[in-house]
Amino acid sequence: MATLECEIPEGLSDTLQQRAHATGEDTSRFVTRILQRALAKSTHTLFQISTSRALVQGVYEEAVSAGQLLLHGDFGLGTFDALDGEMVLLDGVIYQVKSDGTVHRVQDDAGTPFATVLHFSDDDESVLTNLISFGDLCDLCDEHRRSQNVFYAFRVDGRFSRIRTRAMPRTQDGISLKTAAESQPEFSFNDVEGTLVGFWSPPYVSAVGIPGYHFHFLSKDRSKGGHVLDCAGNELLLKVEMIKEFHLALPDNEAFLRADLTADVSKALSAAEGNHSEKKA
Ligand SMILES: [Zn+2]
Repeated sequence: MATLECEIPEGLSDTLQQRAHATGEDTSRFVTRILQRALAKSTHTLFQISTSRALVQGVYEEAVSAGQLLLHGDFGLGTFDALDGEMVLLDGVIYQVKSDGTVHRVQDDAGTPFATVLHFSDDDESVLTNLISFGDLCDLCDEHRRSQNVFYAFRVDGRFSRIRTRAMPRTQDGISLKTAAESQPEFSFNDVEGTLVGFWSPPYVSAVGIPGYHFHFLSKDRSKGGHVLDCAGNELLLKVEMIKEFHLALPDNEAFLRADLTADVSKALSAAEGNHSEKKA
C-alpha cells in the first residue's frame, strides 16, 4: 500500500475525523473508497444527455457543456446547441461537423442538447471485407450482436472507398427535427481514411433514444465527417463493445421542463435521424 500525504482545509479534516469516530470506518479505507468512486471510469456504461423525443420537438438548448460530457466518455455522437451540426467524439476529443462541411475541434464550454457517449473498451474485433453499403454495414454488425436487448458500440477504422454523410443546419429552438432535417446538406467522399463511431440501441428505447444503428464519420485528417447515410470499403477494422448500463441524464432548462414528451415520435425520428437510402437505421 502507498501512503498519501496532502493538505486539506481544517474544517474538512475535522469533519473527516468526526465521521471516522461516528462510523468506525478507518479513514484510509474511507478515502480509498471515495477516490475509487471519483477516479474510476465507468466501463460498459452508455451516458446519454436528454431524450430523442425532446430533440424531435425542437429542444436544442444546452443541457451540458462539452467539458462535462467528456467526464462520461471518450467516444460518442450527438449534436450541439441550436442543432448546429453533428458531434463526433473520438479518442477523447469532440469535433463539430457543420452544415457547410467544415470540421472544428470543440472547446470545453460548447454546449450540447443531446449526446450519447461512453468510455470505449472493445470486447470483440474483426475485419470487414467488401462492405458495399450502409445496409451491409448493419448486417455485418448484426453478426456481432448476441442480443436485441442490450446496447452496442461499434468503431470502424480504415479506408472507405465511398462515404455519404449529412450535417444538420443551425436551427432555432422549437422548429422540429423533421423540419430541420429537410434542408440538411449532404456530402460525398471517395477514397477517404477515417473512423465510423456508432451505436446500436434496442427497439424498447424508442421513447428516450434512437433505436437501431446510428453512425457518425470522421476522417483521419479531421477535415470531413457527418451523420452517415451510406458507406463502402474493404479491409475495415471493426471493434465492438456490449453495453450493460444506460445512464440517462435529464436537462433542467426551461425548454426541456416544459416540453410535452408524451407523443410517439418514432416516424419523425426515423425520417430525421435514419439512413435515407436504406430503411434500416
Ligand atoms: Zn446522427
